[in-house]
Formats: sequence, C-alpha cells, structure tokens
Amino acid sequence: MICSYCANKAIYFQRYSGKKLCKKHFIEKFENKVLRTIKKYRMINRNDKILVALSGGKDSSSLLYFLNKYKDLLGIDIIAVTIDEGIRGYRDKTIKYAKSLTKRLNVEHIIVSFKDRFGFEIDELHGNYCDFCGVFRRKILNMISKEINTNKIATGHNLDDEVQVILLNFIRSNIHNFIRLRYKKVDLFPKRIKPFLEVSEKEVVLYAILNGLKVLEDECPYVNNVLRYKIARFINEIEDKDPGIKYSILRMYEKLLPHIIHLDRGNVSKCKICGDPASRDICKGCELLIKINKLKL
Ligand SMILES: [Zn+2]
Ligand SMILES: [Zn+2]
Repeated sequence: MICSYCANKAIYFQRYSGKKLCKKHFIEKFENKVLRTIKKYRMINRNDKILVALSGGKDSSSLLYFLNKYKDLLGIDIIAVTIDEGIRGYRDKTIKYAKSLTKRLNVEHIIVSFKDRFGFEIDELHGNYCDFCGVFRRKILNMISKEINTNKIATGHNLDDEVQVILLNFIRSNIHNFIRLRYKKVDLFPKRIKPFLEVSEKEVVLYAILNGLKVLEDECPYVNNVLRYKIARFINEIEDKDPGIKYSILRMYEKLLPHIIHLDRGNVSKCKICGDPASRDICKGCELLIKINKLKL
C-alpha cells in the first residue's frame, strides 16, 4: 500500500476519505485538520493563555503534544494541569506519565488533588459518586484557571466523545444537555475548547503512537455507563460499514442546533458561593460539597 500523496509506504487507510497515508502525511493531515477546526470554531486567539487539562491518558497527552508543537504559530501560552481524584491503582499510572511528558516537552505542570482542595478522595466515597467526579473536576479546573490567570481551558475530547454525548442525550431525551453541549446561555469563563473535536479516537491513538507518546486508557474503574458504551459500539459498527457516519451525526447536530435553542428554558445564574454558572442559587459542585461534608460529620 503506497501513500496517496508520495512514494512512501502507507501505514493508514482513512476509509471516509479513501486516502492512504504514510507516517509523514498522516501527521500532516491530522494536524492540518485540528488547525482548521480551531479556526472554524474560533477556539483560539493570539495571546490566549490556555490551561490544558492533562490526565495523562492518550487524548489529553496528544492534545498537549499538539498545542506545544504549535504554540508559537498560534501565539499562545500553555500550562498543563493534572487532577488527582484519589483513585488508587488507576490515576497513579497516568499522573506519572503526565509528569514525564511535561518534563520532556518542557511545559509548566501543576498537579492538584481532590484531597488538597476539598479534603476528601473519591475512594473514600466508596464509588457511588461517579457523576460527582466530573462536576468536581470541572470545579477544580475553574478554580486553578482563575488562580493562574488562563482565559481558556482545553480538553482532549475527540469526535467519538462528541458523537456519543449527542446520541446519549438524544436517546435519553435530555433536551437541556443536548442543547448545552454547544450552546451556552451565558458565556463561560474560562471558555472551554476541544481542538480534537473533528478527529476520531482511532486517529488520535495513531497520532500518539507515531509521535512516541504512551497510549494509556483513561477509563476510571468506577465508571458505570453501560448505555454510553453500547452507543460507542453501535456507532463504530455503522462507521465500519458506512465510513463518515460520525461526521454526518456531528453535522446534523450542528444544523439542528440553531432551530432548537429556544427549547432550553432553564435558568442560568451565578453560584452564590463560588461564582460558577448555576441553574439554581448554588452550583452543582457546591451543592455536592455541602452534602458530602454533612455525610462525613
Ligand atoms: Zn506520504
Ligand atoms: Zn458554586
């Protein structure tokens, strides 16, 4: 198999485009696609100071590598932040890798734990707090971002993640989350960006491997989202027979969105305790913290 763009041996067949790619051309096409996505959604401006949420898993490690490679071209500063939720046997490996990667790339790195910030670890809560974990992670990222003055938070979410969440909210008939995946009633600060939005998980893995990055899975042992897993499998099965279906779901969502935003009738105000966006007087994170501290008493 020869590369569609040069005489080198192709290492990847991109089914949805019908192109065969060598190592050099795969990396070039991948990076150009991400740069186009950044431009299309106006994710990044010159002089942005960007917090990169680095778990040490394959997606966020690849994202850090990419942003570091293009930071001068994009005119940005980046700083990596890793959160230790306190899940032993799971987080240790990825944190260790996050440390070595930031050292290798010479990127400033902050590690912050649930214990330091909130006084408890997820393990202490005996696993019934899966949804809380994401809420607290977001909360910590917002806190750190304010402290170190970054104006954007970049996460490693890829095309597969986005399409899974679109279908998950559709199937569960969760119109608010369906709309709010993209449309926010109030502008969030710091703004959240997903530069890998239009590259598939498979291509992110290949990008990581070709650039000598470790491919660590980022699946928490407490995760218990059977439906999402089924959706992921279902989409991959269709994609296999009908390449390009992931893009088509994404495009359909984007076409639909402007026509349905008025259906999101929820309120948005600021949390009385921390100032984060909230649908009631206090945000979900603060509400849960109060609950947990009561439980501990
Ligand atoms: Zn080539
Ligand atoms: Zn709050």
